[in-house]
Amino acid sequence: MVLAQLGGSISRALAQMSNATVIDEKVLNDCLNEISRALLQADVQFKMVRDMQTNIKRIVNLEALAAGTNKRRIMQQAVFTELCNMLDPGKPSFTPKKGKPSVVMFVGLQALETREIDKQGMGKVRYMDDLCQKVMLKVIHHASVAYGFWEHGTSSGKTTTCTKYAYYHQRKGFKPALVCADTFRAGAFDQLKQNATKAKIPFYGSYMESDPVKIAVEGVERFKKENCDLIIVDTSGRHKQEAALFEEMRQVSEATKPDLVIFVMDSSIGQAAFDQAQAFKQSVSVGAVIVTKMDGHAKGGGALSAVAATKSPVIFIGTGEHIDEFEVFDVKPFVSRLLG
Ligand code: GDP
Repeated sequence: MVLAQLGGSISRALAQMSNATVIDEKVLNDCLNEISRALLQADVQFKMVRDMQTNIKRIVNLEALAAGTNKRRIMQQAVFTELCNMLDPGKPSFTPKKGKPSVVMFVGLQALETREIDKQGMGKVRYMDDLCQKVMLKVIHHASVAYGFWEHGTSSGKTTTCTKYAYYHQRKGFKPALVCADTFRAGAFDQLKQNATKAKIPFYGSYMESDPVKIAVEGVERFKKENCDLIIVDTSGRHKQEAALFEEMRQVSEATKPDLVIFVMDSSIGQAAFDQAQAFKQSVSVGAVIVTKMDGHAKGGGALSAVAATKSPVIFIGTGEHIDEFEVFDVKPFVSRLLG
């Protein structure tokens, strides 16, 4: 279920309730069940959906509500509030200030997906969806074939997002700079360099150095000396099974002491979002989330889960591959739009 469909299903459930002559326990439960089903189909975590049901039932307590109160309105407001609460952890994230050097570190997922393949070889990969086909071309060098299964990585869009974030602030009058501390993925530095050059943003990285901590520290020091006020450190993508990469990410964070760690997440990640986001939060102090590829066939529920797991707000969303396809995320207008 894509995000627009989720909004549509919730709105329909509310409209059905509005058509009922009397709002009793059954009508309320039917409506809540419909909304819960829509959220689960959009990959929102089961516990969050259950909590939402309990909260709404507490607010819309039919017995306690005086006769004559507009139960429909109370129900609609309760759903709106609960969706907003799911997306709003209640504490704003750090915001960089012009003229004062800030370090912002980007972390994100390199998800591993396992697809069954035909024993005859790679030409007969089964169960491949659109996303995998696209990714397969990009990350063929990550592929390993074993026991009839093929594992490959999917990118969260972190490197693209670093540049979008830098560009957004540059247009607001900041002096941003980009540091490539991703020494794991071949081509990461070239990609960052290309993006940075196009946007006329200074960058730092190395083809030779394999220690990401060293690169990160050197880059941050250099740009502090050059009076950059927003130093963005891009790190390697990783997934929660990779203990060594998590340790490396912790070391980069310890050495550069970022003012903000941003967790970048592909909106199509789905149910895995909660566990993955939580694993990142346990290693470094994630303070904000950026959800990418909101223009695609995203289910969107993963975003809600990432907020819950990191207790950090979504600050921006990526809406395309282009550098300015990047929007500030604001909870209430987003939920209003979602509910139509
Ligand atoms: P990384 O490996 O996590 O650093 O990911 P990349 O920055 O290399 O991005 C992977 C792919 O996702 C690239 O083809 C990007 O152009 C694309 N991408 C990133 N953000 C968005 C977005 O918001 N929308 C769309 N449609 N594509 C995106």
